[in-house]
Amino acid sequence: MSVSVTNYIDEAAIARTLEETGRSDAARVREILEKAREMKGLEPSEVAVLAAVSDPELLGELFHTAREVKETIYGRRLVLFAPLYVSNLCSNDCAYCAFRASNRAIQRRVLSQEEIAEETRLMVDQGHKRLLLVAGEAYPREGFDYVLKAIDTAYSVRGEKGEIRRINVNVAPLEEAQFRRLREKNIGTYQIFQETYHRETYRKVHPRGPKADYDWRLGAMDRAFTAGIDDLGVGVLFGLFDWRFEVLALMQHIEHLEKRFGVGPHTISVPRLEPATGADLASHPPQPVSDLAFRKIIAILRLAVPYTGIIMSTRESADIRRETFALGVSQISAGSRTNPGGYHDGPREEEAGQFSLGDHRSLDDVIRDVAELGYVPSFCTGCYRLGRTGADFMDLARPGAIKAHCEPNALSTFREYLRDFASAETLRAGEAAIARSLSDMEPAVRKRAEAMLERVGAGEDDVYC
Ligand code: SAM
Ligand code: SF4
Repeated sequence: MSVSVTNYIDEAAIARTLEETGRSDAARVREILEKAREMKGLEPSEVAVLAAVSDPELLGELFHTAREVKETIYGRRLVLFAPLYVSNLCSNDCAYCAFRASNRAIQRRVLSQEEIAEETRLMVDQGHKRLLLVAGEAYPREGFDYVLKAIDTAYSVRGEKGEIRRINVNVAPLEEAQFRRLREKNIGTYQIFQETYHRETYRKVHPRGPKADYDWRLGAMDRAFTAGIDDLGVGVLFGLFDWRFEVLALMQHIEHLEKRFGVGPHTISVPRLEPATGADLASHPPQPVSDLAFRKIIAILRLAVPYTGIIMSTRESADIRRETFALGVSQISAGSRTNPGGYHDGPREEEAGQFSLGDHRSLDDVIRDVAELGYVPSFCTGCYRLGRTGADFMDLARPGAIKAHCEPNALSTFREYLRDFASAETLRAGEAAIARSLSDMEPAVRKRAEAMLERVGAGEDDVYC
């Protein structure tokens, strides 16, 4: 087992930076926004200045700049996925989570491999191609092999009109050898959220179980990288501690990964605490994050790490989700269930979920909404299947070349969805979104996209470049 040094989260330095930059003038804020437009990222002190902005005019400029950067790098694409909860067994006692060990208010359930196949089939039949496998930190008798088998099972399912093409995984931190085995399963991204980078708060809300060890969790990304998984997702559970501190600490974590491995995380998740059955703290966040602050967080992250994807889950309401698409979000979940067996059992079982959902709409409804807002829903899984991950992805992403791949891939996978799954209304909205998107493309990219769309129209599946 390797030991990671995790003292790069420097709380005193963060406190100093927040103190020193709290009263910056408008000229300094504008200077930083100007720099952000170069899309090379921001320093911690610059992030802290933006975090302190409260003047409405400057806030407007911050949001405007985030929109520009998002649009330049990601265009109008939004990648779609849904979680697959396989088990709610857990040996930890996280004060905010319904799955915590001492919670007697929920029913425990571990899906069998047959049930996992059935849940996957239901997701495939909705039109999903990307799935995020989620579990509590306790496995049935076979131990961690249960998760490995679950991945094999989900990948093996063939629905009438498709299959899952990318499985991302959100499970408790592993040892390096386990990460190696996970890598062999051909996963997309491994995600783990530190929840809070503030040690004292972390200690209070994680009183028992393996998760009580802050350093073991923080070192997970290092062990995963060392084991060869270079597509990693970090995150903060907002509402536990001061969000300004968390964003700066996240920057320190990212800087550490960039220094040590030459590449930062592929995605950042931004969950906000949502009420959860039998977990009072979740209904009374110690440091609530307002909707305005939440939008600031997304805009600031977009500018600070422009090439890192930002993931928005169905914890948030449809309205908040819509607002944040423009500010920097690049991936969203839709049609989600957070209780094991939830796709089969239906929404009435939602009280057994991990937390309550803010957006209950079906995948079809979300897709139509996204398309009507002018975005292109994407089910693309091209990069990781062509080996464009980690540093290779970043090399491609930085000069903007990724657009030449992502935009045609978004259109071809979107048309595949429309062809196979969409309601008549969604089909109309979707085809209009495709037409708009084609008309905005550079001629060479457009030509490639049109050829790919034609192949999908002729019945070919899984067309990507
Ligand atoms: N059990 C593993 C762990 O804790 O890392 C992995 C899965 S856990 C089910 C996924 C994430 O859900 C956690 O990392 C946490 O950020 C989030 N979560 C837990 N309770 C929540 C709540 N009440 N509201 C919003 N997100 C929550
Ligand atoms: Fe278990 Fe994860 Fe929930 Fe904590 S957040 S109780 S580790 S499932």
